[in-house]
Amino acid sequence: MAREVVIIGGGPVGLLTGIKLLEKGFEVKIYEEDKQVGYPQHCTGIISFKTLELYPIEGQNLIINKLRGVRLRISNKFLEEYVASTPKAIVIDRILFEKKLYWKFIDMGGEVYLEKKTIPKILADDVKKKNGVVINAGGAKELIKSGYKDILTGFQMDIESIDKWIKDDVTEIYVDKGLNPEYFCWITPLADNYMRIGTASSGRVRDTLHRINENLGIPINRVVREFGGVVITGGPRKKFMDKNMIYVGDSAGMNKITTGGGLNYGGNGAIILTDMLYNDELTNYRSKWIEKFKRELQIQGILRELFLTMDEDEIVEAMTILSKTEVFNALLATGDMDYHASDLHKLLFEKDLMKILLGKGRFRRIIRKLFTKI
Ligand SMILES: Cc1cc2nc3c(=O)[nH]c(=O)nc-3n(C[C@H](O)[C@H](O)[C@H](O)COP(=O)(O)OP(=O)(O)OC[C@H]3O[C@@H](n4cnc5c(N)ncnc54)[C@H](O)[C@@H]3O)c2cc1C
Repeated sequence: MAREVVIIGGGPVGLLTGIKLLEKGFEVKIYEEDKQVGYPQHCTGIISFKTLELYPIEGQNLIINKLRGVRLRISNKFLEEYVASTPKAIVIDRILFEKKLYWKFIDMGGEVYLEKKTIPKILADDVKKKNGVVINAGGAKELIKSGYKDILTGFQMDIESIDKWIKDDVTEIYVDKGLNPEYFCWITPLADNYMRIGTASSGRVRDTLHRINENLGIPINRVVREFGGVVITGGPRKKFMDKNMIYVGDSAGMNKITTGGGLNYGGNGAIILTDMLYNDELTNYRSKWIEKFKRELQIQGILRELFLTMDEDEIVEAMTILSKTEVFNALLATGDMDYHASDLHKLLFEKDLMKILLGKGRFRRIIRKLFTKI
């Protein structure tokens, strides 16, 4: 018999969770505090083709751009472009993406209550009394409430530049430890002379982004809009369930540690959660999700630790060696942007690279990371 499920948050993961539950015969209500789904946008919208397939909506007209490669720039010391023969990632229209999920959910018989800000704990106690289930898909804000600390503020600008500063299908990753020691900056082509530039920081991120832009020298004609949100970099929360509530998506910390990207890991979280709920196996929910992403998260945790502890010259040295290795080039040609851990272990045999990565006392920190329980 169908059980009532209430979902807090009509973001992509809440909506996907709702759709999957309706497919399984549950009665589902979504409470969303904003007036419209999709707004305000905080996300860049870069995902893999496989990530788009997780979401059961027609995806073709969501794609703003297809990306074949990355240009890596490390201040004025390193510049290299890695381009595959076929697109590896897409930039999607994030607002339309959420709207499509919303219409699909409504069309399937789900109920959405907009401008309905809930107090999750009170709602959860109430629904529990009626034997229902509350799923918290309220995003990063709900994660922070649990005391979670590994977050940065992300800030982005959509700009129109005077000339074509970047290739149509190559996104730039810019590292400048002097200006931002905590994170990289991304410049993603959208269409024509339009691009999305962003970074994340625990400090005054808007100022940081403006300084980075001055350094890069992008000739801005017009800033179309500025937007941002919380970038989650600490891995999943320790518990995906508490007394009366189940967490999924950003509220569970289902994000890549390296980039904060959450549409793949959170989308998979929605699928695992709804299967577990349907099969009455909720106790295995977290372990199933961890089983899928454990190796990725361990490697990403190490990469993040390396980024934070290496100075710019070390990163340049490491990248110079890495760029020449077969493994790295094969990874760029065939690799998967969501799952890259399986190939990276091959780099353990690159002695010169290991010497830099494990130098300056990093060996112990990395080993500790490797054995820290996720
Ligand atoms: C700067 C930036 C860039 C990013 N770029 C990418 C990217 O390129 N690729 C990628 O995969 N990911 C990216 N992400 C991460 C991605 O945006 C998130 O992982 C994704 O949006 C998570 O979806 P969600 O549904 O869990 O949470 P959210 O999208 O945050 O949705 C939560 C929803 O819950 C609602 N809500 C919250 N509290 C309540 C309440 N009490 N009552 C009712 N409603 C409530 C909110 O209004 C919101 O609509 C980026 C994030 C940031 C900040």
